[in-house]
Amino acid sequence: MENCIFCKIAVGDVGTPFLYEDVDCVAFNDIDPKSPTHILIVSRRHIGSVVDMSESDVDLLGRMVFASKLIANKLGLPGYRLQINVGEAGGQEVFHIHIHLMSN
Ligand code: 5GP
Ligand code: ZN
Repeated sequence: MENCIFCKIAVGDVGTPFLYEDVDCVAFNDIDPKSPTHILIVSRRHIGSVVDMSESDVDLLGRMVFASKLIANKLGLPGYRLQINVGEAGGQEVFHIHIHLMSN
């Protein structure tokens, strides 16, 4: 999608290094980390928000949660938080669906 920063990052246009990637999603460090580990898991396909999800996106979101687990395991994190902000009122700033993986 044009003018979507996460679409641009996901296709490699921005040069952001990926910590993880698979057919469904990519993961990279948040540019403005709110905790010592703060990684974003971003779908390759543009979906604006959880609000815009259809039932056919359920598997994709499950795979993104699973990818979060693989990344956390690889980093040896003993525990972590997964967060999805939904809508402006929910703190969402980038309208391309993503999971925050945060750990102290
Ligand atoms: P949201 O508030 O939409 O749930 O989260 C968006 C997150 O994306 C924020 O934590 C913000 O710091 C991060 N972010 C915004 N633009 C960029 C960018 O260009 N590169 C990276 N790596 N992170 C970004
Ligand atoms: Zn996008």
